[in-house]
Amino acid sequence: MVVTQLPRFHYLVIKNPLPSFKFFPKPKVPIKSTASTLFSAPKSTLSTTEPIPITDFSLPDEPKLEISLDKLFVPPETLVSCDDSSLSTRILKGSNIVLSKYARDAQVVQAEFVKSSVRTEDCPSDGLPEFALVGRSNVGKSSLLNSLVRRKRLALTSKKPGKTQCINHFRINGSWYLVDLPGYGYASAPQELRTDWGKFTKDYFINRSTLVSVFLLIDASIPAKKIDLEYASWLGQNQVPMTLIFTKCDKRKKKKNGGKRPEENVKDFQELICGFFQTVPPWIMTSSVTNQGRDEILLHMAQLRNYWLKH
Ligand code: GDP
Repeated sequence: MVVTQLPRFHYLVIKNPLPSFKFFPKPKVPIKSTASTLFSAPKSTLSTTEPIPITDFSLPDEPKLEISLDKLFVPPETLVSCDDSSLSTRILKGSNIVLSKYARDAQVVQAEFVKSSVRTEDCPSDGLPEFALVGRSNVGKSSLLNSLVRRKRLALTSKKPGKTQCINHFRINGSWYLVDLPGYGYASAPQELRTDWGKFTKDYFINRSTLVSVFLLIDASIPAKKIDLEYASWLGQNQVPMTLIFTKCDKRKKKKNGGKRPEENVKDFQELICGFFQTVPPWIMTSSVTNQGRDEILLHMAQLRNYWLKH
């Protein structure tokens, strides 16, 4: 496994490419992580098949997650070694993300709506780093946005008539943006609108130079949807950095959720992604009801952002 350091945190490497897949550009600088050599280290007690227990969920009946070393997201300039006894404490709760030295200034103290744009060229031009939230309609995007900024109704701005099909910029702490993109896969939207959605957001993903990472929201309370897998694949194919945000992880009633618990759906999604990628992207389990994953998302955004600003 070769882990590479790239300026926009590109971390997916394709294993079994779809016919049209081309993937990430060549790395500029080799990463300092030792993760790639761990598995042959003679003193190692861990292997890719020996999962690392990840402790602590907020609810007592929630299970422990176990993640094997090769399924971790190791940020650039981050050392991970298999005989590091503190490794499990350095993994963000309910995620596969290892904390790096860049994880600081994660708190949201101020949030304001800035503007709605209909084209990428119309987006703010102040050069601040940004994260785009995208997902199927009803996935919980507005709820997550409100939970991240601790405001009950900020995301309503994006739902006002005329703004649902726009790129909506929210400035955080005066120094970075959360960007709310229109939801996709809304069954009753006319075909014409759906095509436009594709053209418009895809242009943004490819041409927005200040976009640090797309946060692709996936509903963990239901089995994986084809359209979500296609989206993840499209982002990978087009070398757009992506973090998977699993929503509604508080919904634990099996019967209502197609017979599977959120963590099972999350695992299934990983497996489906594994078919296409050598390494899984960073992912975090969240709930806007319990605020599970909120601080973890903000820490992850902070480390991506601080790294991006430095490079
Ligand atoms: P959007 O269309 O993606 O912006 O989705 P919304 O944020 O409007 O949420 C859609 C529905 O899912 C609403 O009924 C929310 O109350 C519900 N919802 C959103 N997030 C969660 C969550 O984390 N847990 C649960 N149980 N319901 C949620």
